[in-house]
Amino acid sequence: MLDHVAKREKTTTANDALNAKQSATLTVAAERHDGKSAEADASQKLTDGFHLVLDALKLNDIKTIYGVPGIPVSDLARMAQGEGIRVISCRHEQNAGNAAAIAGFLTKKPGICLTVSAPGFLNGLTALANATTNCFPMILISGSSEREIVDLQQGDYEEMDQMAIAKPLCKAAYRVLHAQDIGIGLARAIRTAVSGRPGGVYLDLPAKLLGQVMDAEAGAKSLVKVVEAAPAQFPSPAAIERALDILKSAKRPLIILGKGAAYAQADDEIRTLIEKTGIPYLPMSMAKGLLPDTHPQSASAARSLVLKQADVVMLIGARLNWLLAHGKGKTWGETGSQKFIQIDIEPREMDSNVGIAAPLVGDVGSCVSALLAGMKDWQKAPAAWIDTVNARKEANLAKMSSKLAKNPSPMDFHSALGVLRKVIKERPDTVLVNEGANTLDMARSVIDIYQPRKRLDVGTWGVMGIGMGFAIGAAVETGKPVLAIEGDSAFGFSGMEIETICRYNLPVCIVIFNNNGIYRGTDVNPTGGSDLAPMVFIKDARYNKMMEAFGGAGAHVTTPDELSRAVNDAMDSGKPTIINVVIDPAVGTESGNIGNLNPQSVVTR
Ligand code: ADP
Ligand code: MG
Repeated sequence: MLDHVAKREKTTTANDALNAKQSATLTVAAERHDGKSAEADASQKLTDGFHLVLDALKLNDIKTIYGVPGIPVSDLARMAQGEGIRVISCRHEQNAGNAAAIAGFLTKKPGICLTVSAPGFLNGLTALANATTNCFPMILISGSSEREIVDLQQGDYEEMDQMAIAKPLCKAAYRVLHAQDIGIGLARAIRTAVSGRPGGVYLDLPAKLLGQVMDAEAGAKSLVKVVEAAPAQFPSPAAIERALDILKSAKRPLIILGKGAAYAQADDEIRTLIEKTGIPYLPMSMAKGLLPDTHPQSASAARSLVLKQADVVMLIGARLNWLLAHGKGKTWGETGSQKFIQIDIEPREMDSNVGIAAPLVGDVGSCVSALLAGMKDWQKAPAAWIDTVNARKEANLAKMSSKLAKNPSPMDFHSALGVLRKVIKERPDTVLVNEGANTLDMARSVIDIYQPRKRLDVGTWGVMGIGMGFAIGAAVETGKPVLAIEGDSAFGFSGMEIETICRYNLPVCIVIFNNNGIYRGTDVNPTGGSDLAPMVFIKDARYNKMMEAFGGAGAHVTTPDELSRAVNDAMDSGKPTIINVVIDPAVGTESGNIGNLNPQSVVTR
């Protein structure tokens, strides 16, 4: 209690000092960074930790902060808004962190998430770890308790050694203890987040630091504007030659585009490379739309064939992780029969799962440009290979069309997705956010994406809970309409952010595929007891009413026509909307496409 009061007083003192500073010179009794309590010289202009953090952010063109304010960063959030930084105040730190992370992916600048100490910090940490795993640049700035007390474990308010906890979960963790180091601390955080392989950075700002006072002129001089935060990284000419030699020899070449390629914003170079070589390409889910999914060279509809039969595979900003079956095993051709060329900014990514015959270490834009420059009189990919791929594509696309043409009642995933596929075709600048199990897997293959960075989803971890955070970040950063296609279970992880979406009046339409549960809604309690089965939710819930509670629009739909009308209305109006879509509770499959990763007991008792 006393501690609360002390903190409150300290913050108030700092705040008053700032107000005074804005009007004229000031006299302030505050704890200085040297620990002495001093009566400042009346003619001396002062600044403090709060202002230095904001000045450093502004100097580095950071225009938006996502976060959840509270002790000890309430004033930082208030003052940020006062200084013209946009503060998007969320309801839970994980969602604020996800918004910041996707802002990083979309803009190539670190997304900033601001949290309070201990529990707020921990909530934000999931998003920081997820950002790091996905190679999204993000900085989690968290207030923290008094170092002296934390380090002696004497029981401070929200005591936690946050830096030690953050360290293994992000690219780097830094702590600033002195006001004059704020500038360099933030510069370090920015450069670390965006250079090389992008990722998450933790920046620890103890409460005491924010209130530290120092001479304003010295403070201004201590700030650092980061020059060329993510310098281009060029591959060596020998590496380019090696890669071109292998590519030239290929009879059945394949290009795989990953979200690193989408992040790089080298869209024109990538398109030129693909069209010049005539090579079939496979976009990973967040690379969809780098070229329109309807592009004749897209091999998405022949995925299993191309992975198995390609003799040379060029990976562009895509890792050979579980999402690509680690580049070996039954998904792929016989080991040794396939050669890999890999473009990646991270040298250690090479040979991580299989040997890489031609590593191209550098940024996607520089590597692809160098490849193009070395392609003199280039022969297009062999026609026989293209014919094989196209034949499989046509057969699979015909199968998909017949699934989409069915019109069952209640709707299944495909009948609802057919509607949304048309919406995106007609409104290609919409940002699609997608999470769930079946909702994710089927939307990924059914809905074509036409523009780069317009599909944001569960990423490398396949994590649930990114939905509303990504929707908020995408709407704020791009100003484009967002369509979030959510499983009913997935939505629950971040659902409270619909209040945030309404509060900032963001053009987000959330379509909830409601099949009454996780994977499906038909499990029964084997004991016959009154508790529902663990994977089942309240039957026939009306999620649309949640949005109405906050002043947004809601619709409850049971047919494709109703769905089409409701989504188009929402997109036309730009009003925050939830559409509750009744999906047959019996149609989902266990764990969506990755049931193989979910062990099932075969022993009966
Ligand atoms: P996906 O899941 O779409 O396959 P991954 O996240 O597995 O994509 O892979 C992205 C890869 O892209 C990472 O290995 C990362 O190091 C790399 N990467 C990120 N940005 C760049 C860039 N600008 N240039 C080159 N590689 C990049
Ligand atoms: Mg469900």
